[in-house]
Amino acid sequence: MDQDSINALRDQPVPVFHHLIEGRHVPASDGGLMDVLSPRNGQVLTQIADGTAADMNAAIASARAAFEDGRWAGQAPAARKKVLMKWADLIDAHALELAVLGVRDNGTEISMARKAEPGSAAATIRYYAEALDKIYGEIATTSSDILGLIHKEPVGVVGAIIPWNFPMMIGAWKLGPALAMGNSVVLKPSETASLSLMRMADLALEAGLPPGVLNAVTGAGAVVGEALGLSMDVDVLVFTGSGATGRRLMEYAAKSNMKRVYLELGGKSPNIIFADAPDLDEAAKVAAAGIFRNAGQVCVAGSRLLVEAPIHDEFVAAVARATKAMQVGDPLDLATNIGAVNSEPQLQQNLDFLRKAEQEGGEIVRGGARILQETGGYFMDPAIVTGVAPDATLAQKEVFGPVLAVTPFDDEDAAVRMANATVYGLAGAVWTSNLSRAHRMVRAVRTGVMHVNTYGGADGTVPLGGVGQSGNGADKSLHAIEKYINLKTAWIKL
Ligand code: NAD
Repeated sequence: MDQDSINALRDQPVPVFHHLIEGRHVPASDGGLMDVLSPRNGQVLTQIADGTAADMNAAIASARAAFEDGRWAGQAPAARKKVLMKWADLIDAHALELAVLGVRDNGTEISMARKAEPGSAAATIRYYAEALDKIYGEIATTSSDILGLIHKEPVGVVGAIIPWNFPMMIGAWKLGPALAMGNSVVLKPSETASLSLMRMADLALEAGLPPGVLNAVTGAGAVVGEALGLSMDVDVLVFTGSGATGRRLMEYAAKSNMKRVYLELGGKSPNIIFADAPDLDEAAKVAAAGIFRNAGQVCVAGSRLLVEAPIHDEFVAAVARATKAMQVGDPLDLATNIGAVNSEPQLQQNLDFLRKAEQEGGEIVRGGARILQETGGYFMDPAIVTGVAPDATLAQKEVFGPVLAVTPFDDEDAAVRMANATVYGLAGAVWTSNLSRAHRMVRAVRTGVMHVNTYGGADGTVPLGGVGQSGNGADKSLHAIEKYINLKTAWIKL
């Protein structure tokens, strides 16, 4: 993926995207369309169908019919594997087109998106395709006159609601295991990043997924997302997004058929630097990348930097230097390290957080301004805020933007207390040369993933899931499969 091949696609017209239902592209039932603005320049990129509740219900009915008649669930595992492998190959074959389309839609820098989006989506689909015929039922240890069998059955219809920050990667985390286990899926991409995921869904059909097994409906979360959540015919809801929406989904489930709800929500992840870190310069560079890549719009971003007091000033200066070396700019330029903020409201929200941080005693020691306004896009100079009290808004609330909150700590106990003093528990890191301390911190910090002497980075073999208000259940790895199956016991008298 070189700059010339990206440039050849950067201004290509993008067609209007309609829903994908029963293998056909269908417009919204009331003809409604929604503008898609590109965060690169604020211009209308294309339009998507502005779905209605009726559209969503049609997609669910189609998925239900597809599940019941066994056109996918009833196929031999080897046949399902073949289709999913082909789908992964098609995603790889279209990687450039998908990556550029996604970046034009959501603003992630292409240097990150090319690997994190189509590359990781294809790897995820392939992982579950390879796994699907290696997942067996069980025979229970019963008395000799009984045969106890534990079947693993698909749940039926899965509703998947996806955010805008990594639509293909996160979409694949749900679609891979759900489809591998024989379920039908109704997909609801984010209204500010639908295009690449809708295109990826088309490729599934091209790979041979039967019509109706994967339907996708675009539009407002409060309309089509709500209809999906309230449906009596959806068995499991899987979601990545904000806590506020996650709460609503639990309400929808309670008000409808008590469907299972799995939530991957936000975080306020602590990146904890001890003075004995093996390489403080490296730690500073990784800390900057760990919060500022994708303009901070990463669920596991290390948004709280906790630094042992004696090295605080020196370390903050090193992070500021590393940040300065990161280029903010056109997300379609391979040299760009930090792309655009996803939308104007998101940018305004980031700036509001900074104003509030100052009112609460924080000091913005670098960045924090809107920049590159001449492009019409939504760009921000990454901000470092020091003196953030552990109970300040900036230490407690997720910004989901390029804003780093820095707080000094005195000793290990204080670091643990601060790390655990939010409602979240998604990710974190500890930097130290002391092996025992590293293990103690891994145990003590309440989080779904804890890095040691690195930040971010993981592959599909390990689970990602939060504790506390960061969510429940896990994406990735074989553990994710549990969300998409029912256990059924057969108790047989011999
Ligand atoms: P969001 O909650 O606003 O939107 C996510 C999805 O929910 C979108 O598809 C949206 O249309 C839909 N939605 C919105 N309102 C809805 C409603 N009333 N009913 C049903 N669906 C509705 O979140 P976002 O702004 O797209 O994403 C950012 C958030 O996602 C951040 O909080 C971030 O931390 C979190 N996130 C978490 C992870 C993770 O793995 N834990 C990964 C990425 C992002």
